[in-house]
Parts: sequence; C-alpha cells; structure tokens
Amino acid sequence: MSFPYDAPVSQTLFDRASLVTPGGVNSPVRAFRAVGGTPRFMVSGTGPYLTDADGREYVDLVCSWGPMILGHSHPEVIAAVQEAVARGTSFGTPGEGEVALAEEIVARIEPVEQVRLVSSGTEATMSAIRLARGFTGRAKVVKFAGCYHGHVDALLAAAGSGVATFGLPDTPGVTGAQAGDTIVLPYNDLEAVRTAFAAHPGEIACVITEASPGNMGVVPPLDGFNAGLKEICAADGALYISDEVMTGFRTSKAGWFGVDGVRPDLMTFGKVMGGGFPAAAFGGRADVMAHLAPVGPVYQAGTLSGNPVATAAGLAQLRLLDDAAYAKVDAVSAEIRSLVGEAFTKEGVAHTVSSASNMFSVFFTDQPVRNYEDAKKQEAFRFTAFFHSMLAQGVYLPPSAFESWFVSTAHDAQAVERIAAALPAAARAASEATA
Ligand code: PLP
Repeated sequence: MSFPYDAPVSQTLFDRASLVTPGGVNSPVRAFRAVGGTPRFMVSGTGPYLTDADGREYVDLVCSWGPMILGHSHPEVIAAVQEAVARGTSFGTPGEGEVALAEEIVARIEPVEQVRLVSSGTEATMSAIRLARGFTGRAKVVKFAGCYHGHVDALLAAAGSGVATFGLPDTPGVTGAQAGDTIVLPYNDLEAVRTAFAAHPGEIACVITEASPGNMGVVPPLDGFNAGLKEICAADGALYISDEVMTGFRTSKAGWFGVDGVRPDLMTFGKVMGGGFPAAAFGGRADVMAHLAPVGPVYQAGTLSGNPVATAAGLAQLRLLDDAAYAKVDAVSAEIRSLVGEAFTKEGVAHTVSSASNMFSVFFTDQPVRNYEDAKKQEAFRFTAFFHSMLAQGVYLPPSAFESWFVSTAHDAQAVERIAAALPAAARAASEATA
C-alpha cells in the first residue's frame, strides 16, 4: 500500500540504524514489518503525546507497550529518578529502594509473600519456570498458544493448537531439547489441559499463562478458566504461574489478581512496576520462593537487579497509582473503545472491540475470539489501512493487529478529541481496504 505521508528524518535514522542493528531495531515489532512504512523514531514524550524526529506529535496509544500508565514524563516520576541518579546509578549491593519496591508489591498483591527483583519480564518468567522446575523436581511446562512470556527459549514454542501438542521450537536457535518439555495448548480450553495432565501425571512442573492475554490481541480468560487451571495444577502438585508482566498494576491496583481473585503459586511482573525503566519481578508463595539462592538451591542472579534508579522510578509510579488513577484509566479506555466501535459500525466494518479491564484491542471479525486460532481468522489487512490513516492523523497505535492498546491517566479530553477526529477517516480506510 502507499503511505499517506513520509517521515524523512525517521527514514534517515532507520537507514543508519539498519546498517548497525539487525532490521534497524532493538525489538522486532518496532520495525513496522506487520504494517509496512517507516518506523517513527521518537525524541520525546509528554503526558499522552509522543513527538517524532520529524517534529510530528502523536496521541500515544502504545504507552511503551504498557509501562507508561501515568503518561510520559510524569513530573513526580522524573523527580524521583533525578533524585536517585544524583546519588549514583548502581552499587551492586542491597539498597533501601529495592526493599521499598518489594514491600509495595507484597502489600498490593496478596498471594505474593516474597518477591525477587529482576530487569525484564523475560528474566522474570525464565526464573519463575526454573524455580517451578526446581521446586517440583519435574520438567514439563504447559503454556498456551498465543500467550507470550518473553523470549525464554522453552517458551518460544507455540506450535499449533490441538490437544497436548508437544512444543516445536518457533524459532531457529531454540533446540528441540529446550522446547521438548513444553506442552502448547489452545487458550481457554480446560479440557485440553485436563487431557495433558492425564497423559503426564506427576510430570508437569507448572502451567504458565498470561493472567489475561494481551499478546494475541486482547483475549480475556473465559469465566472459570484461570480458576480451573489452578484447580487442575493443585490436584496434580504442579504450580500455577500467572504472568502479570502486562496486566500487573495496570488492570487494577492488584493487577488481574485484583480482577479475578484466583490465587497463583507464582506470579511475574514487569512494565508498569518499572516506571519506564528496566525493572521486573517474580514472586509468590514463601515456601516456593525459599528454594531460591541464597536460601535454597535454585540459582538466580543479576548485576543490575534492584537497580536504584529503576526502583525509584517504579516506586514513584506505583505510589501514584491509587483507586482514583485506575478509575481514570478505566474511564478513558471505555470512552475510546466506544468511539472506536461507533466509527467501525458506521462504516459497516465487521469488528469486535475486545477488552480486559482498561486493556483493549480491535479484531476485524464479528465472530467470537477465544484463542489464537480465532484471532488469526480476522481480516488483519484492514488493520494496516486503519493504522496508517491513524498515524497520518497523529494517533500512534501498536503497529500490529495482534497487540493490546494502552492508555494512561494523562489521556485527557483533548487527547480523546484528537482520537475521535481521526477515527472516521481511518474506519473508512479500513472498510475500503482489500486483502
Ligand atoms: N510476559 C508478558 C505477558 C509480556 O507481555 C511480555 C512483554 O511484552 C513479557 C513477558 C516479556 O517482558 P520483557 O519484554 O520485559 O522481557
């Protein structure tokens, strides 16, 4: 397709980047491969807005893929960072900031009795899986197709749906041995989980699931799905790991646990808890966490874990996230969802606006989407046209039809108005798109 306008400075930066970095980016989705065109190189962010290298301003509906729930450059978060930076950037020793952040997490999320800080969501899930295997003495891991848990070797297996499909590596570089203990099942299908446990009694260390998936678009768990997982795990002595890297501290004060109340054995966190810095965590039952080094035998470590600047940013952000803040994010999300739905309805575009608390995304189908197979049946080509029209009109969406959209407390009436103004033409572009 042709793109409504170009971005010469971003294009020059992208050309430079492509010479020294594979694909010109440090995380693949940023390259716009799913939608085409020039990735925008951003130079600054304030509140709900981003400004690119060509000087164009966008309403940001990506929010750094979740973390920026207070908007960009929140003055109190920036002040906390500046104060921390002035005292030094890394000590490689324990520090009070990491204690305070761990206390905040434990206070907010009841099933988390102890927590270990790490630097990325990937590290959190990788460590939680290792701990689950070390604790249970079992090897197999159940995950669901369409759920992303970071680029952990054993979890980069999403091969096919169907019952108890053994994971085939999704990417070269992951060996059969690394993925061979991973069982990939269709999401929202408890029968498939029961069948897998019946086929491997006493062999499954854990089930890991996104608390409410946002990596195949937003596909919330059906009523009773997470509770069913917990029950099946408990009956077999396996651990139930809820990956809240995306939902944690976003979908409520206590993340998705605050929504469905199902008590995981272990949980993983990232994104919001780092306030825009690399901070993540895993935690849960104290008896399980006691298996971690230096108390127990399961090794896990990190040079920058609990970094003082990252923990200061995360703590400042979490302390600002009170009930009023969540009410604001929920309300603006509902408003935008309804505007988006109206615009597509008006243009006769088959769609579903799917939401889980304040996370949402659009599927270009009017059929129910309960798992990855359903999600893939949408007319994703319509998203490309929609995305580029919104971009040209100054609204920055995730550059893929299979990603959640994110809003913040900073998305005020003016930002919503800009989105509303862009939607009619973008919905028309979606309706006119051809495969
Ligand atoms: N788990 C979930 C649910 C995620 O959405 C992500 C990233 O998007 C990760 C884990 C990996 O986190 P990170 O990108 O910080 O490694």
